[in-house]
Amino acid sequence: MKKQWFSAKGVFVHRDSGSGPRQLYEERVLLVRARTFRKARKLAEKDAQKYERLLDGCAFTEFVEVFRLFDEPGDGAEVFSTMEQSDLEPKEYVERRYPSKPADCEAEGREHRYYNNGHGYSACYHCSVVKPGELWH
Ligand SMILES: [Zn+2]
Repeated sequence: MKKQWFSAKGVFVHRDSGSGPRQLYEERVLLVRARTFRKARKLAEKDAQKYERLLDGCAFTEFVEVFRLFDEPGDGAEVFSTMEQSDLEPKEYVERRYPSKPADCEAEGREHRYYNNGHGYSACYHCSVVKPGELWH
């Protein structure tokens, strides 16, 4: 069987190191060439193990979802698609699946964790707050 293009989404957790962002989840999609879904999954799992070793505090959740591309990758090619059954209304579904950043951590009783936003400004990883000064130290 001829090799085909697949995309594989892997889910990773980035643990809280005490500074920088609090715990985050990452969905990472890569393209692989393989003859079967099974082989594509194996390649993605191998890559995921390599990826978690490269990054401190990163762990592969063992979750991988594989999609076979209908066309060669290129301009306008669909590279990933997934279906999920839900009775939620569209707005509620999107907010649950992809929650927006809160306006202000402090309003939720949490502390900001800043990064350098450039031009003398600091921005919080977890909310929409941006303040002048080097607050990431
Ligand atoms: Zn914040």
